[in-house]
Parts: sequence; C-alpha cells; structure tokens
Amino acid sequence: PSFLSGVEQAPADPILGVSVAFRESTNPNKLNLGVGAYRTEDLKPYVLDVVRQAEKRMIEADYDKEYLPMQGLAEFNEATRKLLLGEGSAAVAESRVATVQSLSGTGSLRVGAAFIGKFMPGAVVYLPNPTWGNHKNIFADAGVEWREYRYYDKATIGLDLDGMIADLKAAPAGSVICLHGCAHNPTGVDPTKEQWAAIADAVESNGLVPFFDVAYQGFASGSLEEDAYAPRLFERRGIEFFCAQSYSKNLGLYAERIGAINAVVNDKETAAKTLSQMNRIARAIYSNPPVHGARIAATVINDPALFARWNEEMGEMAGRIKTVRAMLYDNLCKLNPDKDWSFVTRQIGMFSFTGLNPNQVKHMTEKHAIYMTGDGRISLAGLSQAKCEYLANAIVDSFT
Ligand code: PLP
Repeated sequence: PSFLSGVEQAPADPILGVSVAFRESTNPNKLNLGVGAYRTEDLKPYVLDVVRQAEKRMIEADYDKEYLPMQGLAEFNEATRKLLLGEGSAAVAESRVATVQSLSGTGSLRVGAAFIGKFMPGAVVYLPNPTWGNHKNIFADAGVEWREYRYYDKATIGLDLDGMIADLKAAPAGSVICLHGCAHNPTGVDPTKEQWAAIADAVESNGLVPFFDVAYQGFASGSLEEDAYAPRLFERRGIEFFCAQSYSKNLGLYAERIGAINAVVNDKETAAKTLSQMNRIARAIYSNPPVHGARIAATVINDPALFARWNEEMGEMAGRIKTVRAMLYDNLCKLNPDKDWSFVTRQIGMFSFTGLNPNQVKHMTEKHAIYMTGDGRISLAGLSQAKCEYLANAIVDSFT
C-alpha cells in the first residue's frame, strides 16, 4: 500500500471527459460536439493565418527566452486592456486598470478568485445558473464561497431577467457577480442592450462588484466592439469591476494559455496597489506567465495590417458557426415542423443549449455516436455543413 492509497479517484471532468470518450469510440460517424474548440468545415483544428504570420516575424526577430515580469509582457498588457475597453476608454487613459497577463481565461479567473479571497474577506461570488462548469471549481479551490443567481428560463429558452434582477437585489452589498461578457456558456443566451442597462442599475444600486468573464470577444458576433458592449457600458457608468480575458477562441491560441485579469477601478493609486497584489498572487502560483502567446497576441493587435486580417478571420469563424446554426435549424424544422426550433438560431456564440436531458444525451451518444456534455449543450464549432442533417436526425430521434 502507498501512503496515498486513501486518495479517491476524481470524477471525470464533465467537459474534457467527453473528448476522452470520443477518442475511444470506433464508430465512423462519430461527432465531437463536447469541447468548445473551433473546427474547419473538414472538422480539423484551425491555426489562424495571423498567428502564423506573427510567429514568422517572431522567429525573424530572434527573441530571447528570458523571464517575463510577474504581470507579463508590457506590450500585451497595454494591448489587451485597450482591446477590451476600447480606444476611447477613460479608465485606460487615466491608468485606472490593473492588468496581469495570466494563463488564459481559467488562470486569469483563478488569480482574480485568489485576490477576492484575500482582499474581500467574506465576499460571496454569485454565478449564473447554469454557468461554465469550471467556474465553481475555480472559486471553490480559491476558498471563495459561491452561490447561484437565476439566469436561464427553461420555458422561454431565454433570459430570466426578472429572476436575475431579484437575485442581484437580494445579494448582500459587496458581493461579486460573475457575468459572461458575451456568448454565455452553456446557454448561448445573452442579455440585450436594454437588459444590460437594467443589470447595471441593479449592480450599482446594490453596491455589487461585477466580475466579467470575456472568453469570446470577437468570436461571438465577429465584432470585437459588439462583444465588448457590456464591460464598456459598465466602465462608462463608472462601475468598478474585474474582467478575465481569454485568447483561446478568438485567436485560436488554446494551448498557449494566453489571457489577462483586469481590475478597473476609480483611481490610479488603487490600480497600482491592486496590480502589486495580483503580482504577488501570481508569483506564488506560477511566478510569471509564458511569453509565446503574449508576443503573438501583442503582434496581431498592434500591427494594423495583421489586426485587420484578424478581424476578417474572426468574421469567418463566427460566420461558419452561424451557417451551421441556420442549416441545423432548417433540418430540424424539416424533420419535425411541429416543434419550435427557433432557439437554435436565437442563441449566440459557439454553443447551442438543446434542452436534451441527461437520458436523451446518453441516447445521442450511445445510438448516434454524438458526443456532448450531459447538460444538453452542443458546440456548433465542431459541426460541419455535411453533418447537419445527421445531427438533426439524431436530435429529433432523441426527443421522441
Ligand atoms: N470562461 C468561459 C465562459 C469559457 O467558456 C471558457 C472556455 O471554454 C473559459 C472561460 C476559459 O478558457 P481558457 O482557459 O482556455 O481561456
């Protein structure tokens, strides 16, 4: 026996476990709609043209591999907060944003969670119900208590705004409210501009602290501006907040682990002190972040020609997802015209929340070799036009 023999097997990760099961399947029709990673029409991973171009320039520049400072690459940090808040941001101009380059969205959320645990003792984080599965792990492992607020309305397959506002109003002042900046995962249901205003009102009047998770800027709608609407609105209204950013999806840099945690605050001195403490948290976890992805992102954002090409490529990726959404919708309507399938085209981003229950999901996988998460979420980024009819058949079959 080992001194560790009492350690229990951890449960499979509900999202990453789907890919493991997919790889093991020998069914030739198998389709992986579990993990949120973009695929081409041939269902192959895609490296963006701008990423290849930036990497070529980086090789030519013959950079060294020295450690970055704890907060990361200066050019990246500057570029990433501008990308988030826009060129006209007062907070950026007035140095009121503390930015730490961190390990993609997840690592950035984790540094933010540790900061909350340390400097906002007793603060509870409110997560939307449902939310990306890892949010709960991230806050729990950082020792921060989380609760849920109402978000998704099963009956309308839309936003439960009244429930959400009521829950925000019931949260104690100083609570942290996790908000998906765009393309809510897993539902694909986002607030409208009017609804964001109502959410900002509730946050403001109740003294809550928003924590935006922006994992899909530019990837959801194809427009960096549109997808940053909510954090920019909050900044204009003078609301202080945290924001985690990820370049996994919009630059396809999944494995490079590039992202940032920002604190947008009311004065420069607070931003500087916050930055110093976030650095200290990073120092004790991983010391300093990896440089490769930061150089790629900074090169693409700061070079006008690459930036323009990146916007085109995001438009292409978002466009391909919209095309398969429409095609899936048409096929579903053809197969079962009696059911209202309009939620498929109303939802935003790479996911569709189908409403399939865990038993129906099991049927999708066992009978049709369609791999997806147990909550009924499918990633449309893993769907091709050629497979739309096959998927629609399986969905209709699983619902009946
Ligand atoms: N937040 C949300 C809502 C996500 O959907 C994801 C990725 O699926 C992430 C954060 C973080 O991903 P990463 O750590 O690869 O940036």
